Parts: sequence; C-alpha cells; structure tokens
Amino acid sequence: SLTAEPQAETVFRSTLPDIAIPDHLPLHDYVFERLADRRDRACLIDGATGETLTFGDVDRLSRRVAAGLRASLGVRPGGTVMLLLPNSVEFALAFLACSRLGAATTTANPLHTPPEIAKQAAASGATVVVTEPAFVAKVRGLSGVAVVATGEGAEGCVSFSDLAAADGSALPEAAIDVANDVVALPYSSGTTGLPKGVMLSHRGLVTSVAQVVDGDNPNLHLREDDVVLCVLPMFHVYALHSILLCGMRAGAALVIMKRFDTVRMFELVERHGITIVPLVLPIAVEIAKTDAIDRHDLSSVRMVISGAAPMGKELQDILRAKLPRAVLGQGYGMTEAGPVLSMCMAFAKEPSPVKSGACGTVVRNAELKIIDPETGLSLHRNQPGEICIRGEQIMKGYLNNPEATAKTIDAEGWLHTGDIGYVDDDDEIFIVDRLKELIKYKGFQVAPAELEAMLIAHPGIADAAVVPIKDDSCGEIPVAFVVRSDGSEITEDEIKQYVAKQVVFYKRLHKIFFVETIPKAPSGKILRKDLRAKLAAC
Ligand code: ATP
Ligand code: MG
Repeated sequence: SLTAEPQAETVFRSTLPDIAIPDHLPLHDYVFERLADRRDRACLIDGATGETLTFGDVDRLSRRVAAGLRASLGVRPGGTVMLLLPNSVEFALAFLACSRLGAATTTANPLHTPPEIAKQAAASGATVVVTEPAFVAKVRGLSGVAVVATGEGAEGCVSFSDLAAADGSALPEAAIDVANDVVALPYSSGTTGLPKGVMLSHRGLVTSVAQVVDGDNPNLHLREDDVVLCVLPMFHVYALHSILLCGMRAGAALVIMKRFDTVRMFELVERHGITIVPLVLPIAVEIAKTDAIDRHDLSSVRMVISGAAPMGKELQDILRAKLPRAVLGQGYGMTEAGPVLSMCMAFAKEPSPVKSGACGTVVRNAELKIIDPETGLSLHRNQPGEICIRGEQIMKGYLNNPEATAKTIDAEGWLHTGDIGYVDDDDEIFIVDRLKELIKYKGFQVAPAELEAMLIAHPGIADAAVVPIKDDSCGEIPVAFVVRSDGSEITEDEIKQYVAKQVVFYKRLHKIFFVETIPKAPSGKILRKDLRAKLAAC
C-alpha cells in the first residue's frame, strides 16, 4: 500500500545490561542500605580540620537534625528547606535530614545576591534557610523564613548544633511517596534562561545514582576503599549526585573542600590518599597549566571525572600526560535529566576503551535518541542533532511551571536537552555544543566549545571564551576573549593565525579581546551573557 509507515526511531541504549533498581526506597534509605556493614568506616572528612564522621555518625546525626528541624522549626512532609551553604558536613547532614522528613531541599549558591536568594526562597516555598554566620545578613529580611546558622555566634538564629542535639530516636517515620515526593529542588543556574526549580523525586534520584554506581558491573565503579575529593559545590547537582550520593551509596569516603585552591587540593590528595577526583573544566585547565603538580605525589588518584561543560580532546590529552596513572573520562549531566545522561565506560568495573573528547555512553535503564531539531525526526549514528533522554530518572518537571515543563518533556516522555551531539559507532556520545550557543556565520554553524578547546590547548593561553558579534553581512561572527598565561606575550594576530591554520574559513576568529579572567558559573560554565553584555557595552 502507499500508506507511509511511521518511521522507526533510532534509540540508543547502554552497552551494559539493565539492572534491578529499587523503586520503593526513599533516597536516604537507599544510600544507607548497607549501613550495617559500614558503621565504622569513614564517610565524611572535613578537608580543613581532618575531622571524620563515620557512616554510623552520619546516620545518627542526620536523624537528630531531622528531629530538630521537625520539633523546633515545624518542617513536615511536603515542606521545603533551603541550603545556602558552601561545601560542609552540615550540608550533607541537612540534606539527608530533609530526605528523612519527606521534605525537599532547595540549594543555592551562598554567593548569590540577597534578591536572588529571596526570589528562590519565595518561589520554592522554603520555610527554613540553613546557612553560615557569614551569610546570615543575606537572609535576615526574608519573611516567614526561619534561619539556622552553622558555627558560632549568629544572633537571632537557631543554631545548627542545637538541631543536631535533638533526640533522633523520637523521629517518626515519614510516609514518603517515592514516585512523587520531591527530595531535591535544585535551581537551574539560568545561564540559558530564567532560573527554574527542578523537581527531582526520591525515585528519580535513586534511579540516577543506581544507573551510575549499582550492578555487578557498575558504570562508575566506586569502591568502599575509595577516597573521593569533594571540591565541586554541593549546591550544584553534579556534586550532590555524583559525589555525595554516589559516594555514600558505594561506601566510599569523601574529603570535603570548601573552596578550590590548586596546591591545597594537591596536599589533600597526598594527605588522604584521594583516589577519585571529580572536576569541572576550569579546574582541569588549572591542573593542566600549573607546574605545582610536579612537586606533589598524586599517584593515589585512579580516576579523574570531568563534567558540566565540554572538555576537548586537546585538554584531555594534556591532563592524561600529567596524571598518567589515572583513568580520565567524562560524564554528561543536566539538572533536569536527573542529572546523569551518560558516563565514561572506562570507569566501569569491567572497563571498555573510550576515546578522548567523548562524554560517555548513555546510562543503563534509559533510552537516548538524537533528533533533527527542525523536524523532530530521530537521526542515526554519527549524525549530530539534539540529544533526548527518557527514563525513570528524569525530573518530574519544573516547579509551578507546566508550560516550561511541556516545552522540555514531550508527550512520549522524552526530555529535550538543548544540547547538540552525536553517537558514534562505538556508542560513545560526543557533544558539539549547546543549541543556543551555536554561532551562525552566513548560515554555517560554529561551535564555541571547539574553538575554546583549541585556544586553551595553546601554551601561551591560560583561558578563553568564544562568543558571537552581530554582523550586517555575515549574521554573526565568532570573536574570542583570551587570558594570556603568565609571561606570555602572544598577540591578536598570532592567535588568529593559530586558529585559522586548523579550521575551515567560517570558524576563523575575527577579533581577540585580552582579559584578566573569564567569568564562570560555579558549575564551570562560561557566563556568556556577561561577555555578550561586555561586547554590547564597548
Ligand atoms: P544552566 O542554567 O545553564 O542550564 P545549570 O547550572 O542548570 O546551567 P546544568 O543543568 O548542570 O547546569 O547544565 C547542564 C548542561 O551542561 C548540559 O545541558 C550541557 O550543555 C552541559 N554539560 C554537562 N556535562 C557536559 C559534558 N561532559 N560535555 C559537554 N557539556 C556538558
Ligand atoms: Mg540548566
């Protein structure tokens, strides 16, 4: 007949078999499932003081904090608590405490301005903010919000240590609907739109953690004897999921670092025998460019995980040479995706070989497809298009924003990422760039990430960002902001030629602006809107 058959979709799956994932456990019960075997093992280590909490301590203290939040501050199932904390033991305890209560945690960067914080507190319906004395002034004016402060001497606040002194044995078991109750409410940082609350349920996060660290052959093989560096901000979902939750589920110890410093980081690696180093591009660039690395023994590191922004092959190769004993690879995440979409197969218990520049293979128990952003039709291998993912792990939706949710998750349950990428012949995913970041030069597409990777690989360049400038005849033209490395005197012409020699004509850089730093979000992403504003101003 002439009736057109509906075109079969090309759906990509993990090369690992699906596994049974607990669909009945609240998040805290899932991460503590093997508590009985681990009570006395180190769980959280404060990098500054060396103070260590065992899994038993973390279990007990998180119960107490939960009891305190309930008794003194009335936190109940369905409630929301905001954490405005840098990396700390208190962050982990408060997050787990809220999970126990059936309450959601919304996380924010303590460096946000008071209006940004007020907006998120109101939008998320938070009734309690947990913060440090240094940030109390930012939240004092919030109406209907109780403030809990860690440390000493914050006037007019409930002290965190008082909460942690409550009677944990009196805590009633909360009735949690794991499929629907929200446990984490991260806000997307808004580098591509207005910030929105991303609803992650207990089951969603359990699924996402299990997809990565569970099974006989876990995709990311964390072991009980691993020591994981936690320098990435816990308020961002990457560290919350892939360091805190995955680490605890696997029984590994975490070394908590409050703020990033290259040499301090190397010292902590040596002191604690850190084996797993999750990082983001700016940290990777620092490590690749510093000589300090040669004065430290980093041989304990067996795995370096990069995520949150594209890492080019060039940088990956430089890092590999600096850390020859470590397996180096990428994960690919997005808050809305729950968050992990793909993970490097070289991190598996039974690893398979991977290519530089790839950001992993789709996680197990999930489906991934690549679609033509214009037609919506699914594409085959090696054809770049928009990456879509489906599975139990993706967000429930945006809080109080059904329109935005419907634009992101379609009727068939596919989450549209807004990222352009392709799947190669070995099931490895390569991200080209974000759809919105692509520069269009006379209709040709230029991916800033590709040019940035090239620039960063130059020894005379410490950091770089590529953005478009509007142009009457070409539409948009790519220009670069460049930070010279120490002692480098590289010129605009030299940089233009260095790039021109490696790329097709339409990807050539038309102007170079030398700057001191590239503005970045704590997740490691370049704040392109700040750069565009800078261009508009000059
Ligand atoms: P935004 O407000 O810009 O969405 P966000 O703080 O919400 O930022 P995330 O949700 O973590 O941040 O960002 C997800 C995006 O990060 C992905 O859609 C993708 O563009 C990018 N990303 C994550 N991991 C990788 C990777 N390994 N390679 C390339 N890009 C990545
Ligand atoms: Mg986002």
